[in-house]
Amino acid sequence: MLRNEDYGIDWSWHDAEGLSRVVNVSGTMTSLGGSITTERVARATAAAMPRFVNIHELQARASQTIARLTGAEAGFLTASASAGISLAVAGCITGLDPAKAEALPTRPGDTNGVAVQMGHLCEYGAPVSQAIALAGGDQRIVGQSTLTRDYQLEAALDGCAAALYVVSHHVVDYGMMPLDTFVRIAHAKGVPVIVDAASEYDLTGMLATGADIAIYSGHKFLGGPTSGIVAGRKALIRAAYLHNTGIGRGMKIGKESMAGAIAAMEQWMERDHEAIRAEETRALTIWAEAVAGLPGITAKPLPDPTNNPLERLRVWADPALAPASAAQFVVAFGKLDPPIVVRGHEVEKGYFDLDPCNLMPGQAELVRDALKPVLTDPAAGAIDARSALAGARNGGTESYLTWLT
Ligand SMILES: *Cc1c(COP(=O)(O)O)cnc(C)c1O
Repeated sequence: MLRNEDYGIDWSWHDAEGLSRVVNVSGTMTSLGGSITTERVARATAAAMPRFVNIHELQARASQTIARLTGAEAGFLTASASAGISLAVAGCITGLDPAKAEALPTRPGDTNGVAVQMGHLCEYGAPVSQAIALAGGDQRIVGQSTLTRDYQLEAALDGCAAALYVVSHHVVDYGMMPLDTFVRIAHAKGVPVIVDAASEYDLTGMLATGADIAIYSGHKFLGGPTSGIVAGRKALIRAAYLHNTGIGRGMKIGKESMAGAIAAMEQWMERDHEAIRAEETRALTIWAEAVAGLPGITAKPLPDPTNNPLERLRVWADPALAPASAAQFVVAFGKLDPPIVVRGHEVEKGYFDLDPCNLMPGQAELVRDALKPVLTDPAAGAIDARSALAGARNGGTESYLTWLT
């Protein structure tokens, strides 16, 4: 149905390696390789590959770039944001003490509590609670899933080494304590605040609000190689960095990813954000036009739930009028050649989203031309509806369980 050559997309690497082609309109997904880099970032990564380097010097260079990007005193790079959470917690527990670092995670001492709001205990591919536990942190759950009160945080902070705050579309979006209040209460008890802002475009706001450490993914909107950015107060950053001699060993970042992440951060500070936004808006517009008037289908661009400067096209499917449900359509898009992976996180509510952030040239048009044929195809209604829904809920784990079977 879709003739790949019509869109000028280069699939030569996938084809030569025998890998499935993928068009990603779902967002920055680990299961699809995170993000795609520019030539500039790819070149910086490649340049580091065949050379030795003093790693501490390269990390100090990263620290300068992170400081410019985030307003932090200092920073370092690690394998991922998830690793960054563990290292930040570890640093807050031990300070700059190599013997204490070596004792983690089994002997963290008595001051190893990590206060975190119940509504922030999300999963981003793994539970955030596990990133705390990997460092020897003892999670102190604050409040209930949809409400945190000030006194609950105050009471939880005794015996805490850190308080963790998560900014994400994955967390409960009402009843949570605002970051400034969270910081004020934690600081009054002398407890540093770590913010997991892995997927947030706001690179300065968390630290400006008083957070002691802010953590970002290098491979999400920044478009770097897989990496985690840990930024914050110098003493805590140094303590967290020390854990590369301990629990951080298995979270090691290589020189090539560091060079690429530095290039990605520099690129971010220079790039024409408005032009990229305009290109994303163009994609949303041609997609919305393509689905306009289709039976049982409604679509509308919606702002990102955590106010990132980004919109996605939400597509509702009414199975009484359209040939299939949203969950069935998600599966149908995945069966195309090339497969189109749409954002189906909330498909049980009767919609899916189209994310314009990771498009290669030609892909906006390819997606546009696939929309009407799929959304009017009676065959989509024949897809097993129950397993389509179960796939959306359990697919992430299923892919691991069925791997190599
Ligand atoms: C993606 C994400 C993570 C994990 O980031 P990685 O860099 O892939 O480890 C952690 N927290 C939140 C809120 C995320 O969105």
